[in-house]
Amino acid sequence: MIEKILIANRGEIALRIQRACRELGIKTVAVHSDADRELKHVLLADESVCIGPAQSRDSYLHIPAIISAAEVTDTVAIHPGYGFLSENADFAERVERSGFVFIGPKPDTIRLMGDKVSAIRAMKQAGVPCVPGSDGPLDDDAKHTLQLAREIGYPVIIKAAGGGGGRGMRVVHSDATLLNAISLTKAEAGAAFGNDVVYMEKYLENPRHVEFQVLADSYGNAIHLCERDCSMQRRHQKVIEEAPAPGITAEQRERIGRRCAEACSTLGYRGLGTFEFLYQDEEFYFIEMNTRVQVEHPVTEMITGVDLIKEQILVASGERLRYSQDDIVPRGHAIECRLNAEHPETFRPSPGRIEEFHAPGGPGVRIDTHIYAGYVVPPYYDSMIGKLIAHGEDRGSALARMTNALRETIIEGIDTNLPLHRQLLKDAAFQQGGINIHYLEKKLGL
Ligand code: ADP
Repeated sequence: MIEKILIANRGEIALRIQRACRELGIKTVAVHSDADRELKHVLLADESVCIGPAQSRDSYLHIPAIISAAEVTDTVAIHPGYGFLSENADFAERVERSGFVFIGPKPDTIRLMGDKVSAIRAMKQAGVPCVPGSDGPLDDDAKHTLQLAREIGYPVIIKAAGGGGGRGMRVVHSDATLLNAISLTKAEAGAAFGNDVVYMEKYLENPRHVEFQVLADSYGNAIHLCERDCSMQRRHQKVIEEAPAPGITAEQRERIGRRCAEACSTLGYRGLGTFEFLYQDEEFYFIEMNTRVQVEHPVTEMITGVDLIKEQILVASGERLRYSQDDIVPRGHAIECRLNAEHPETFRPSPGRIEEFHAPGGPGVRIDTHIYAGYVVPPYYDSMIGKLIAHGEDRGSALARMTNALRETIIEGIDTNLPLHRQLLKDAAFQQGGINIHYLEKKLGL
């Protein structure tokens, strides 16, 4: 068993990992930037190490500083959380070469999934349904490319193999703009990701975002933990997530979930992972795999009763999966609202001192946050300050509990998106369930 874990992250996820470690009797090392001395998990950690100045590139993204902190504290394993270095194969490799356990998949798996062209290829081979497309990088043969686009059928989307965060994509509606769009996307991708490989997919016009959670050990055992619907998005950023996805049948869940779990066994996947799909006209289309814990993991925890971070740590310690597929029986419905320090209408970030904080409560209500009254939200990082999660026996009850919880939550001193969430919970189409990924932006008039 791992005795000590260094948490290479900040904010709510660092606190969440610390909680899981405590339950397992594992000591924690918090690493933090100069601006983050007052973070809740830093104040609560067994040990803490300042790894550099406020800017992420000099602290949370600075690999040598993190490795040194692990060395001086006799750390056994490093948990990367999400964001920052969590999907950086070079970091995972450095961690392992320095003699520490990386809590995540093998570096080669991260690398394979980080390149979308190789990820899609691997998934196709493993029988996971993908978006019809170019089956590999686009070459310089203009005639061939035009023919390919016509075969796939317009509109198509040109995507960068190394893209991420919703960047490096371009939708094309006809032959006239295709070649130009490809050269533009290539140039941008080369500059932004250091990789100018692009590929082509059918552009789906009204999909939902439905993703499957998987968990695998090092012995080829893998299970899925049902799906989540994350279609409420603004600029490709998820705003509200829920599990299970409205309208997905038990047959679909079983069929696609099993494919994902089988793909994990085939690929030798280890740890937590997410298969992201676009879902349209009752078909699933794989778009990418995330090789880390997701922000929205709590909704899955609430319906399955599985503590995903604890299980992630246990499989990283070399233990076998403690659950079989039959143990995973979804119960009720869970919804998560991401709380951001930002103006509810302009979305302008709103760092600063939190003067008052009152957390909600009651049956089925969970809040994952590092904030407290007197805490100062620094301006240097992502604006998410926590997540509010509500679970109920069915979707209606989860919505009612979320509505109450949003009403009870008070955060003063900074702007937050609480008013936006209160408004979205009242939205008729959202209440109905099954809205597509464009719904929120249209509603906001964007
Ligand atoms: P990233 O790694 O940048 O998040 P993804 O491949 O996950 O890239 O795509 C991000 C978003 O772009 C998707 O959630 C979806 O909104 C849109 N998108 C990507 N591929 C397609 C497609 N083939 N058809 C329609 N929309 C797409």
